[in-house]
Amino acid sequence: MHQILILSGKGGTGKTTVASAFIHLSQAKAYADCDVDAPNLHLVMGSFETEQKQDYMGLKKAFIDPELCIGCDACRQVCRFDAIEAEPQYHVINIACEGCRACAYACPQDAISFVDSKVGDLRLLQRGDEHFSTATLIMGSGTTGKLVTQVKNQLKQAVDPNEVAILDGSPGIGCPVIASLSGVNLALMVAEPSVSGISDLKRVIASARQLQVPVAVIVNKYDMHEQKSADIEVFCFKEGIPFLGKIPYDREAVHSLNQGLTLDQISSNGAEAVKSIYSRTLDLVKETMKG
Ligand code: SF4
Ligand code: SF4
Repeated sequence: MHQILILSGKGGTGKTTVASAFIHLSQAKAYADCDVDAPNLHLVMGSFETEQKQDYMGLKKAFIDPELCIGCDACRQVCRFDAIEAEPQYHVINIACEGCRACAYACPQDAISFVDSKVGDLRLLQRGDEHFSTATLIMGSGTTGKLVTQVKNQLKQAVDPNEVAILDGSPGIGCPVIASLSGVNLALMVAEPSVSGISDLKRVIASARQLQVPVAVIVNKYDMHEQKSADIEVFCFKEGIPFLGKIPYDREAVHSLNQGLTLDQISSNGAEAVKSIYSRTLDLVKETMKG
């Protein structure tokens, strides 16, 4: 499966707006939402005919058997994550437990075992020959990177190997972004024209380069700060990174998303810009795949 990933160094840059427009413009048969902490691509993807849903299990968590526990407090004292409470009886706070097993080693009664814990849902939606892979993680469960990998893997297994998939990436940096970037043909970075936007962009480009993923950059809402937008273009030029265009701030874009429409489906300057960017991205992907 060939993969075009839409990424940004932080949330709120318009990444999903661009990804959903690309999905609609390309009539993609395969796409995924890798933002498992706050997925929202489904809001503009309409309804699907079928859905396969499975529990996503995280680390096993400690469980204290109240029948065996004598209340010696050894487990609570050894837990570095403050995941054990003594009242009303000794018990584990699931969300805080890291599954390190220190409590079990400390327990003189062998009262602590480890049990599966559901930390999210993995979903594969289908409409004709179109597949949409997505997931939701329970807040604070901390296994985001692994779940992103599963979102991508289930899509890969469901579609033709020659299919070009559009992936809405995870925001920020770190584990989920590394998982989003892994194995993609092109990462299109959506940058915001601000001081923090430029520094986020540089960090996420550094991650992509470490994984040897080709990158390209666009700026969203460029007219909010034209000088910073120009700075991003200059940075790309100096670094030899393809700069594929800029999208103006578009009030209509917000309305369109609220109505379940992708940006390219409305008539606006933003829509025209995203169509041109899409066409340049396709050309670049073709070149990348040839190389
Ligand atoms: S497994 Fe580790 S984190 Fe979880 S309750 Fe035991 S000591 Fe604390
Ligand atoms: S160490 Fe074992 S016996 Fe002691 S309080 Fe914890 S669970 Fe109970």
